[in-house]
Amino acid sequence: MSNLEKEPPELVIDTEPRAVGAVELLAPRDVPLGGPRAMNVRRTLPQRHRSLIGAWCFVDHYGPDVVADRGGMVVPPHPHTGLQTVSWLFAGEIDHRDSVGSHAAVRVGELNLMTAGSGIAHSEVSTDATTVLHGAQLWLALPDASRHTDPAFEHYAPPAVELPGASVRVFLGSLVGSTSPALTFSAIVGAQIDLAPDAVVELPVDAGFEHGVLLDAGALTVDGDDVPVAHLAYREPGSAVMRLVAGPAGARLVLIGGLPFGESIIMWWNFIGRTHGEIVRFREEWQTDVVAGVRDDGRFGVVAGYPGAPLPAPELPGVRLKPRS
Ligand code: MN
Repeated sequence: MSNLEKEPPELVIDTEPRAVGAVELLAPRDVPLGGPRAMNVRRTLPQRHRSLIGAWCFVDHYGPDVVADRGGMVVPPHPHTGLQTVSWLFAGEIDHRDSVGSHAAVRVGELNLMTAGSGIAHSEVSTDATTVLHGAQLWLALPDASRHTDPAFEHYAPPAVELPGASVRVFLGSLVGSTSPALTFSAIVGAQIDLAPDAVVELPVDAGFEHGVLLDAGALTVDGDDVPVAHLAYREPGSAVMRLVAGPAGARLVLIGGLPFGESIIMWWNFIGRTHGEIVRFREEWQTDVVAGVRDDGRFGVVAGYPGAPLPAPELPGVRLKPRS
């Protein structure tokens, strides 16, 4: 979805020193999205003190929202650059359209991966059949060598791998012998893991990866540390086993991970770039080409079939920021 903050800050995200110790808890912050069809979104990445887990740079968790109460998700066409979006649902269904001509349903347990590359636009609307909307929107930063790639859209329904006490759906990368065919640009993993009541699972993971565990429901410890619901537990590289212990009602979690990204990026609104000037140019091209309707063959293109106007970009903050090294 779009970052719908009214005054999104421009964030300079540097490669950070690794944490010392085991598990670091990242608490969610509620993002006020405003408007009559607002959704409650809990954001755990980026944070002031930790902004990347591998290439994962954005974790929004929402719902369960009763659509009759809140009106569901209606996100008009908006742009992205320099990243991939991962749409992952626990309940509901979303209608996706984009400017490379994709029209797809985002369904429970199925990956929709959109590669923005040099630029794309898309809209997302929960379908009429949706009664409860519940899911996560994740972004992956593209490495500098790949960030100008052509925009693309992929769908993949991962099989459930059944382990003692756990059911694992690997939507990106490889885990427990299951490999996603979806296109990635750095060494990463992404999976939904459902733990049975009181399950104790020694999950084999890549020891070179840092990991994050987002607890959606139930009770969970990661390597012995409690993880509250809607929190993201960060775990530094170094161990090839992650110990997951569920409470009496089991647990549902999303595991993300990857090799430390090693590059500085700038995130503002829905754009990722490397310089302030680049962000300014992306915004200008969106406002001129698409919002003002000057041309439909520019960087972002047009979302065919969406019955409304595109989302205007917010104003840029007054402060000019540069990535540090
Ligand atoms: Mn979006």
